[in-house]
Amino acid sequence: MGSPKSRRLGVALVGLGNYANSELRPALLNHTRYCQLAGVVTGSERKGRAWSHHYGFPESSVYHYDEMDQLAANPDIDIVYVVTPNALHAEHSIRAARAGKHVICEKPFTVSVSEAEQVIHECAKAGVKLSIGYRLHFDPYHQVLRDMATSPGHEPFTRMNGAFSFVLQGNSWRNNRELAGGGSLMDLGVYLIQEACMAAGEQTPLTITARELPKQRPADFVDVEETIVWSMEFPNGARCDARTSYNESANHFRADSADNWFEMDPTFTYRNLEGYTTAGPLHFPEVNQQVLQMDDFARCILADRPSRLGGEMGLRDTKITTAIYRAAQTGRPEPVR
Ligand code: NAD
Repeated sequence: MGSPKSRRLGVALVGLGNYANSELRPALLNHTRYCQLAGVVTGSERKGRAWSHHYGFPESSVYHYDEMDQLAANPDIDIVYVVTPNALHAEHSIRAARAGKHVICEKPFTVSVSEAEQVIHECAKAGVKLSIGYRLHFDPYHQVLRDMATSPGHEPFTRMNGAFSFVLQGNSWRNNRELAGGGSLMDLGVYLIQEACMAAGEQTPLTITARELPKQRPADFVDVEETIVWSMEFPNGARCDARTSYNESANHFRADSADNWFEMDPTFTYRNLEGYTTAGPLHFPEVNQQVLQMDDFARCILADRPSRLGGEMGLRDTKITTAIYRAAQTGRPEPVR
């Protein structure tokens, strides 16, 4: 773990699926300044070997999921980035921590509050840092929202609304409760939770009301929600109405205060964001969110300071998703606890 500061920190990706391959790998190979691709953990030895040949790390840095404890003996790997299906995040994060490696865990952090607490505990026990893959925090458009929310010169945002949805085709782990922990809420709804908390100055909502809508494609969403709507009430009286679906298309967010507003559409994509405020349209040069996110974590490690996207923020969001499901089930307002 203890790495000389003269080299870029080594990152091992766990799970070589779509996000790891199309966003994280190119970011680590071509753009990050403080970390680089140094290994992989995969279920496919063939794929692992191909990555090692193509992307410049030794075959000895290719591991199977069952071999994660062996990462402990590899000084080239400082950070393990967990990019597997949601319900495997806790297990893979804990195994990385026990091997003495710093952990980035993709969203949603975990599928239960007790798992989130366990990951935090294991990382603290191992003395490793933990961060959640909340890439939006590094994009200048979203930083405007955060600045507006926390600037003393602005009234607080009191009304927020947003939706994030896409049409999920076919069967995958995403519509399998055992692997996904839920449906569209666990995958897409987490972004709305993140954005609403950002607009509320990183407060935690007090109360949730929620309703799952009737399924249009029940055969595709047997044990997970297709579409869910919910409201979050914050301690300062602010409220966010949110909607997420695997059978619609939406990608927007808006926050209003007494004297100001902020709006984005698309909001949650990696690129081509569009934003507006009371002052007019926002224009920023494109950034690579994943590069900034991973480099920020590497710098946290090098400077020995905690990530601002640490386990506590992930735990907060897991408490919120849990309360949303509880509220949808009971039909009553539910506290976030
Ligand atoms: P994917 O299906 O493309 O990849 C998942 C990987 O996990 C595959 O390589 C698969 O082989 C592996 N895996 C290991 N054990 C498995 C099992 N038991 N069943 C199924 N697959 C298994 O998924 P993805 O889109 O890359 O998403 C992976 C994670 O990354 C998810 O948690 C998702 O929420 C997150 N993600 C985050 C972002 C972001 O913008 N931050 C974007 C996409 C995905």
